[in-house]
Amino acid sequence: MEARKKLKECNRIVIKIGTSSLTHENGKIYYGKMENLARILADLKNEGKEIILVSSGAIGIGSERLGWTQKPKQTEMKQAAAAVGQGILMQIYEKFFNEYNQIVAQILLTKDVLEDSVKKNNAQNTLRQLLKMGVIPIVNENDTVATEEIEESVFGDNDTLSAMVSVLIDADLLIILSDIDGLYTKNPRDYSDAVLIDTVDEITSEIEELAGGKGSNFGTGGMITKICAAKIANSNGVDMVIANGEDLMNINRILEGEKVGTLFKKH
Ligand code: ADP
Repeated sequence: MEARKKLKECNRIVIKIGTSSLTHENGKIYYGKMENLARILADLKNEGKEIILVSSGAIGIGSERLGWTQKPKQTEMKQAAAAVGQGILMQIYEKFFNEYNQIVAQILLTKDVLEDSVKKNNAQNTLRQLLKMGVIPIVNENDTVATEEIEESVFGDNDTLSAMVSVLIDADLLIILSDIDGLYTKNPRDYSDAVLIDTVDEITSEIEELAGGKGSNFGTGGMITKICAAKIANSNGVDMVIANGEDLMNINRILEGEKVGTLFKKH
């Protein structure tokens, strides 16, 4: 069967949404977006799918709550903002998911947890139990104890964490919602002739270069962390799609087998 059509059969789905998709350009919370996301995910749950949401946004929401007009740059300021924002983030999700009769749970993880077999096992058991009970886990990095995902230059906004979570719970599909339609042949912000790539069968060094890997002339920004996530997901049997989070119905389109975004095929 054609790879895209196979996505119709995906049952356990991890959806990662970044700060840019949850806030307005000025950094303030985009309630309509968050409510829309809750409704779409609630409907997928009601269709019988298992949903895990990996959501960033704590730093942005915390900064807003603290009255900061600019995004914090220092790591400890980001951590402080995240500590203020995480509770608010969950409060908003709780409200919207509750409106659609869904129970959510907060899971704060760090990557080292996934490297320690006892802690990994505990996290796995909790997530599995929540899914069994029909709860939607909402995952974020625990920014108080680890700063890998908020140090944007290295990992970037939960991309890698979402791939690790997908592997941890044997997901069928990871959907990463970004501020761009998918992986292009060049960074489309710099090159108007860039072409969207529909499917990536194998992540070669050429593919890494498109995303701004070593020695590349094009591409900066966050695409490299998404390729890194795809490598983790694909090599562990999880398909991954990068799509634009601007239109959240893209989630439904992907799950209907439509050609939306870039599909990175599992091995
Ligand atoms: P988000 O914040 O939505 O998770 P990022 O902004 O970190 O995503 O990463 C996406 C960005 O990566 C795009 O907006 C684009 O500027 C950049 N980019 C670099 N190379 C490419 C490429 N080959 N294809 C698509 N985007 C690219």
